[in-house]
Amino acid sequence: MKKATLFQKAKDKYVRCQACRHNCVIAPGSSGICGVRQNIDGELYLRVYGKAIAVHVDPIEKKPLYHFMPGSDVFSFGTIGCNFRCTFCQNWDISQAVELVRERYKKKKGETEVMIGEICDEGQDLPPEKIVEHCREQNIPVIAYTYNEPTIFAEYAGDTAKLAREHGIKNIFVTNGYESEECLEYMKDWCDAMNIDIKAFDQKFYTEICGGAKLQGVLDTVKKAYELGIFLECTTLVIPGVNDSDEELRGIAKFLADISVEIPWHVTAFYPDYKMQDKDPTSASDLERAWKIGKDAGLKYVYTGNLPEGGHDNTVCPGCGEVLVERRGMSCAGCNVKDGKCPKCGEVVPGVWN
Ligand code: SF4
Repeated sequence: MKKATLFQKAKDKYVRCQACRHNCVIAPGSSGICGVRQNIDGELYLRVYGKAIAVHVDPIEKKPLYHFMPGSDVFSFGTIGCNFRCTFCQNWDISQAVELVRERYKKKKGETEVMIGEICDEGQDLPPEKIVEHCREQNIPVIAYTYNEPTIFAEYAGDTAKLAREHGIKNIFVTNGYESEECLEYMKDWCDAMNIDIKAFDQKFYTEICGGAKLQGVLDTVKKAYELGIFLECTTLVIPGVNDSDEELRGIAKFLADISVEIPWHVTAFYPDYKMQDKDPTSASDLERAWKIGKDAGLKYVYTGNLPEGGHDNTVCPGCGEVLVERRGMSCAGCNVKDGKCPKCGEVVPGVWN
C-alpha cells in the first residue's frame, strides 16, 4: 500500500480521486468504484501498490500492438480491481474481484472494506525495483500494464515505468481509455504507447454493459493521448448483435480517421465469457465486414484479431502493397520496415520499429 498522487483533499476528510474520469468522491474508510483506492483518514491510498495478481511474459502482438517493436517480449502484469463492469470481461476473476465481494456483503459496509483490504493484499509482492531488475536480467525491452485496468494503479505503473526508462525499457498501457486529464498529464513523460479500447460508439453500451462510463470520456482520452504524442493503437471487440452494426462501426472508424488515418485499428473477435454467455462468437465474415468499414473510412492500418486463422494480421504498405510485417498468430515472422519506411516505395509507416 502506498499514498496516491492523483487525488485532491475535500471537506470533512473526504477525498476526490483524479486517476480516472469517474472522479470518485470517497468518504473516510471507503474506497472508490475500482475498490483499490481507499480513503484512510483523509488521504488516498493505493492498496494494490506493489501487489501484482497476474504476471506473464507475452509477445507484444498479444496486447495487441502491431506498430510498436514487433516481435518483442513484454513483461506484463496487472492487479485486482477495475473501474468498469464489462459483462463480457475475459479477466473478470481479477478485474471484478472487489465487486464480487461488494455484491456478496452488500449490507455490511465495514466488513466489506476489511475483505476488500484482504483481497488487495493477495497478490505477489512485486515492487517496481523487482520488475525492472527482472526485465534487465532477462533482456525484456518492454513492460505492459495490462490484464485489469492500469489507470486504477497509475502510481504503481508510474514508479515502475520511470525506473524502467532509466534502463532503456519502454512502457505500454492496455486500457479502457477512462484516464482523467490529470492522469494523462501524469503519464505523458513515461508512457510510450497505449492500446485503447473503443468498446462501442453508443452511450447505452457504456451505461448498461460497462457499468456507467461515459463514451465521450473515452473519446476524449483517445484525442488527448494522440495530442500528447503517446503512440496509439485502438481496439474494438466486435460483439454480434450488440455493437456490430455498420453504423456503429462506421462511427468508430470515422472518429479515428478524423484524428489520423494512421492510427492502427484492431477489430477483434468476441467469445462468450463471464455474464455474456448468450451471444455467438464473432464470425470471420463479420470481422471482415468491420475491417472493410475501417478501410473505407480511410484508415491505413486495420487488423482483424482473435480468429483461429486467417484474417488481416500482416502490416501491408498502404502505398504499394508490400508486406512490411508478417505475422503468424501471435508472433512476428519478420519485419521489413527500414528506418520507419517501406523499403520498396518509401512510404513512412507510423510506429516504433526497433
Ligand atoms: S481510479 Fe477511478 S474508479 Fe478508482 S477511485 Fe479513482 S476515480 Fe474512482
